[in-house]
Formats: sequence, C-alpha cells, structure tokens
Amino acid sequence: MQYDHILIRYGEMALKGKNRKNFIMQLQHNLQQQLKDFPETKVKRTQGRMFVLLNGHNPERVMEKCKDVFGIQSLSLAIKVQNDETEIKDAALWALENSTDVRTFKISVKRIDKKFPIRSQDMNQVLGRHLLTNTTGYTVDVHRPDLELKVEIRNEATYITSSVIPGPGGLPVGTSGKTLLLLSGGIDSPVAGFLAMKRGVEIEAIHFHSPPFTSGRAKQKVLDLAEKLTHYGHKINVHVVPFTKLQQHIFREMPENYAMTIMRRMMLRISEQVCKKESILSITTGESLGQVASQTMESMNVINEVTDYPVLRPLVAMDKDDIIKISKDIETYDISIRPYEDCCTIFVPKSPKTRPARDKVNQFESQTDFSGLIEEAVGGIDVITLTGESDAEREFEDLL
Ligand code: ATP
Ligand code: MG
Repeated sequence: MQYDHILIRYGEMALKGKNRKNFIMQLQHNLQQQLKDFPETKVKRTQGRMFVLLNGHNPERVMEKCKDVFGIQSLSLAIKVQNDETEIKDAALWALENSTDVRTFKISVKRIDKKFPIRSQDMNQVLGRHLLTNTTGYTVDVHRPDLELKVEIRNEATYITSSVIPGPGGLPVGTSGKTLLLLSGGIDSPVAGFLAMKRGVEIEAIHFHSPPFTSGRAKQKVLDLAEKLTHYGHKINVHVVPFTKLQQHIFREMPENYAMTIMRRMMLRISEQVCKKESILSITTGESLGQVASQTMESMNVINEVTDYPVLRPLVAMDKDDIIKISKDIETYDISIRPYEDCCTIFVPKSPKTRPARDKVNQFESQTDFSGLIEEAVGGIDVITLTGESDAEREFEDLL
C-alpha cells in the first residue's frame, strides 16, 4: 500500500464570497505549475478542497513542493479506497503503522455517503477496535492524540488521511494583481517581495544598477535573489536600469545632504514609468520605518510625493530580527549578505538629511532639468526574465 493522494485545504479562501472561484482556479493552476517536474500528478477540485493525485510519484517529494504554494492552509497525505469495510480497515491499519512518532491515536469517521451501512459513530468503534487488536503499543486518546486518522466516506470513494501538515497560508499568487518590486541586493527587499507574493500579488522587479561603481557581480546577486522568489509562483521579469549618469548628476549638482532623498525620488519616477508601460498598479519596497536615514516618516513623505501610485511597504512595522528570520527561511539571506556593492552604498552622502522637506527638495530639483536623464535611463532598461528552472538543471549546467 502507498499514499496515493495529497489532500489540500484552503481555509481563508473559502471566505472570499464571489471571488472564491477565481481563487480556487488560480490555486489549482499554481499547484499544477509547481508540480511540473512530476508529470503524472493531477490536481483535482472537489467540494471545498483539492486533491493531488500522485499517480506513482513519491508522496513526500510532491508534498515538499506543495508546501510552498500560497493559499494552502494545510495538507495531508491520503489513501483512496472503495467504500468497503475491509478495504477501509486495511488502509487505516497501514496508515497507523506507517506514521512515525505515534503512540496514541484517534479515529474520526465522517460518513457523507448515507448508502454506506455503518454509521459514523459505529464505524469509529469498528476501526478503533480493528487497529488495537492488530497492533501492539498503541492506545486511543480522543483528546490529544499523536495522530488523528480521518476517514471520510464520500459518495465516490473513501479517503483516509494521516497527520495534518501546516501550509504556508496566504492567497494564491495571481489573485491580487501585480506590483513592481524595488529589488536591491540587501536583506529587506526580497523579503518584501515574498510577503507581497504571499498576499496573492504577482511581482516584477526593478533594479538600479550603476556600473562601473557597482559590478556585474552585484547585478548577478539581484538576479539570484529574484530567482529565489520565482520559487513561490511564476517567472519574474527584472528591469535593470542604467542609473550611473543620473546618480552622478545628482551627486554633482545637488546639495550633498539631499542627494539620497533626490536619488530615491528618481527611483520612484522611473519605477512609475515602468508601471505605466507594463500595466502594473503598485510599487513595493523593502523600507522599514526608522531603519536608516532615508526611512524616517519625513523622508517617506518627501520621497512619496513624486508618485500617486500606491507604494506597498510590507516590512514597515517589522523588526530587523524578524525580517532576517524570514530571509533565512526563504533562502535569500546567504545571497543578500554576499559582499557586493549596491548603488546606494557607493554614493552615500556623509550626512544624509533625515528630515528632508518637500519645498526644499522641489526647489533643488527645479534648478536642473532631469527629464532627459530620466528618459535615457528608462530607454536603457534591460529586461531579464527568470523562469526558476529547477536546481537540478542548473547543477547540470555548471558541469558543462
Ligand atoms: P534592502 O535591504 O532591501 O536593500 P535597506 O534596509 O538597505 O533595504 P535602503 O538601502 O534604504 O534600505 O533601501 C530601501 C529600499 O529601496 C530597498 O528595500 C529597496 O526596495 C529600494 N532600493 C534601494 N536600492 C535599490 C536599488 N539599487 N535598486 C532597486 N531598489 C533599491
Ligand atoms: Mg539597501
């Protein structure tokens, strides 16, 4: 015997009224995408839940893949049998004997098919007795069992599920529109992208690159970060903006203590243009209130002035420790701490203004015409598409 299904539960989505259908279709699509390395698997919808049919693929390996699909509340390995007492008994016994670290168990039968002759309560007893007489060392604990074996006798078949494994939660990527993520090589912005995706948002990334002050390796770091994020949903376009000229101009012509603020405003102006071109409705950054000079309330106010696009800041209220924890979980941390320079760390003014004022910035900016430089930067954007090919394929590439 072997587990032949994975049962997928999707709590939050069930609450979403008339959007529910879209969510479910998107979740099914995302699961299918995530499982493309397991060609025989099929993702099926039934009332209120989904099943992955394994068709011979390794249950644990498929489970690992499903665990990163947003919108899933929990998962369980399942066995499908006929609505037949003996078959159900055999499968329940097998499931118990094949679970690890279990001493106490509980059986919960739910009889949906009223044609099945044994009622739920009675079937609990029948199965409990069967398991106890055919094993040694197990006891029943109905309050806090190590394992709850759920037996659902549905019209089409009976499903027996073992332990409930938590899913990542959130909403399926693709159900909440698209955002343009300002992706630096730092720790924060990839985490911000991850959290946006967790709320169902699809992302494209934009990176401001200042060669030769920032190296090809710095750019590669950003691409590697974006590649990690593809794992949570879909291919990601990274818009790489040639930023050197604009940045040099700012640092030459503008008062030094305002250069950082003005540079950030330029980033948003350029980002907004990319949004318009790509029909993207919002911008996302890795800013967290109070972390550095440019992330004060005054600074956000002044920087935000240049765009009326919503700027999402998923990390705004988070502590650095918590951000680092997520970055380790999603495996971006080790990439982020690689010691390559970022455009912002190269052109750091000695004393950046922590409380910039709108009127002053506007006055400084009006002394130069930036429009040509902005246009040139936008015109020079190079779009790199990351498809998130599997690590196995990449290892193979390294060997060539
Ligand atoms: P991060 O760790 O994401 O770099 P940070 O704490 O270093 O963040 P800043 O350097 O002030 O903070 O950057 C704030 C945000 O501005 C970043 O989270 C990112 O969204 C954006 N940003 C900074 N530099 C770049 C860049 N070169 N290209 C794209 N976005 C950038
Ligand atoms: Mg940074």
